[in-house]
Amino acid sequence: MTWQDAVITAAAPETTRVRRLTLAVGWSRPFRAGQHVDVRLTAPDGYQAQRSYSIASSPTVLPTIDLLIERLDDGEVSGFFSDVAEPGDAIELRGPIGGSFVWDPEMGGPLLLVGGGSGVVPLLGMLRHRAEAAPGVPALLLYSARTAEEVIAREELTRRDAEEPGFRLMLTLTRSLDGRRIDAARIAEALAALGTPAHTFVCGANPFVSAVSDLLVEAGLPARTIRTERFGG
Ligand SMILES: Cc1cc2nc3c(=O)[nH]c(=O)nc-3n(C[C@H](O)[C@H](O)[C@H](O)COP(=O)(O)OP(=O)(O)OC[C@H]3O[C@@H](n4cnc5c(N)ncnc54)[C@H](O)[C@@H]3O)c2cc1C
Repeated sequence: MTWQDAVITAAAPETTRVRRLTLAVGWSRPFRAGQHVDVRLTAPDGYQAQRSYSIASSPTVLPTIDLLIERLDDGEVSGFFSDVAEPGDAIELRGPIGGSFVWDPEMGGPLLLVGGGSGVVPLLGMLRHRAEAAPGVPALLLYSARTAEEVIAREELTRRDAEEPGFRLMLTLTRSLDGRRIDAARIAEALAALGTPAHTFVCGANPFVSAVSDLLVEAGLPARTIRTERFGG
């Protein structure tokens, strides 16, 4: 897959730690919800850094894609996108990438989506695509964030929860008063609300994905129905 220039057409804060970047990409073929892109930065001395970022927007909004990038402390590339990158800049990008952590409307549901922090990004892409292309597919998003202020796309998810009959949002805030994490009881609650999922997608930092995958298998879900994406950390 070749590197190409993509131009940043818009940038805006999404939460206190996450910035939304809209990029014009020259793709001739559509992507699939859940896929990601690789971006590459090159310093004047030739030093290069490459990272992956999931596509948050629905495939139907091409020729632009949205990335949601969380600023990590001392993060080399996320720091650049949080502080330096501006509309009009061109960045090197290749994609779309990924053939396993994807959901197509033909796959149907019920769909269980479990995201930790910025791990919600590819799941947002799936939910946005589902709402347009397959609103009858039952879906539940179990989303763990630190605080309410750090919930990505909070207004949109709350609105979808209220307006879309087949969609349910379950939020877990780890730094709230009860400091709850996703545990066996929360998984049981999600499964009771959704029914047995045909497909489960789990995304977030490594420890989150490992812990949630174990809980899902312990809850009786067949491992072959669970797909994971690890963001690192
Ligand atoms: C397929 C894929 C899709 C991704 N999609 C997104 C996305 O949509 N949005 C997004 O914000 N990030 C996403 N990431 C993570 C992203 O690729 C980078 O790893 C992240 O932005 C950190 O890069 P950095 O250069 O800023 O940090 P670095 O300079 O590489 O690291 C800074 C510090 O943060 C730690 N660290 C690195 N990654 C994580 C992490 N995920 N959690 C906690 N600590 C970490 C490092 O160990 C180090 O201590 C994705 C990763 C993958 C593999």
